[in-house]
Amino acid sequence: MASLQYLCSCSHHRRSIRSQEFRVKTFYMRRYSIRCEEKNENKRLRVLIAGGGIGGLVLALAAKHRGFDVKVFEKESSAVRGEGRDGGPIQLSSNAMAVLEAIDKDVARRIVEEGCITGNRINGFADGLSGKWFATFDLLTPAMKSGLPVTQVISRMTLQDILFNAVGQDIVNNNSKVVDFVEDYKKVTVILEDGLQYEGDILVGADGIWSKVRSKLFGTQEAKYSNYTCYGGLTNFVPPYIDSIGYRVFLGLNQYLVAVDVGKGKMQWYAFHKEHSINSDPPSGNSLSIQIHYNALLQYRLVLMIKFHSKM
Ligand SMILES: Cc1cc2nc3c(=O)[nH]c(=O)nc-3n(C[C@H](O)[C@H](O)[C@H](O)COP(=O)(O)OP(=O)(O)OC[C@H]3O[C@@H](n4cnc5c(N)ncnc54)[C@H](O)[C@@H]3O)c2cc1C
Repeated sequence: MASLQYLCSCSHHRRSIRSQEFRVKTFYMRRYSIRCEEKNENKRLRVLIAGGGIGGLVLALAAKHRGFDVKVFEKESSAVRGEGRDGGPIQLSSNAMAVLEAIDKDVARRIVEEGCITGNRINGFADGLSGKWFATFDLLTPAMKSGLPVTQVISRMTLQDILFNAVGQDIVNNNSKVVDFVEDYKKVTVILEDGLQYEGDILVGADGIWSKVRSKLFGTQEAKYSNYTCYGGLTNFVPPYIDSIGYRVFLGLNQYLVAVDVGKGKMQWYAFHKEHSINSDPPSGNSLSIQIHYNALLQYRLVLMIKFHSKM
């Protein structure tokens, strides 16, 4: 969101400030400068965004509606088109829905249509063995008191698809892996794997956990395995408790499983399980590691089904 605030700042000041240095503090407390230079009142600020995940696409949508000239570079088209490989369901709490409404009412409406409201049902943490609730959250009262939309859940793939269509194919460049960028005093140039280059005024790194942009700006940091592996899946299933429970987290020793209604007759689930790292996946993965993960996933799903079926 820092990037978004920055863009808003630029927009607010565009008439009074012709050349201005905006300074942002990084989490290292080092200072970096971002230029916001306008030579021509009619020239649109060119915003380049590396990564077309949820963050990159929402930013692109907001920047597009502000009138900026936006380009998104996404390395893997399937993630954007909605066939996405990984990632769990997305719970959009009242404040997130309000932000989306402010950015694009139509997108917020489509999310409501394609996802489902969970904020008016029981949501919370339950004991993974007995199924008894440990704690439940009241998501409805605070939303009603503040006049905000109620919490929704939507399948991540559906959300990406809605955002992608709203941003537009002309803005999102698929199969466009950012491998480098260079800056000079006037512009930033993004370099893609296939050799194509694009110039812009700012570049936003929204390219996720293995971000190329971040590693070039702040140095490479190895990701540390948390000792937990996350498995997930989407299934055509309407459980008998659908009207009363929205989002339930089953807690167990060194493992937990989340089962959530994502609308349209589908349940999405994901589970964190404490185990040794199967391998060290490179950012792009490889066929062997995918096969190992897939077999492990099938075995683990079976264990979970036996264990939790009666409570799901
Ligand atoms: C199981 C699970 C459940 C979650 N539930 C929720 C939830 O309920 N609500 C919520 O708000 N958040 C949830 N989150 C967190 C949420 O998924 C992340 O915060 C969010 O996905 C981050 O978005 P992002 O766009 O920054 O990064 P990402 O979603 O990781 O997207 C990065 C994008 O960049 C692309 N990319 C990577 N490298 C390059 C490159 N070099 N060039 C071009 N493109 C590149 C990738 O293909 C990807 O599309 C959950 C996460 C998990 C794992």
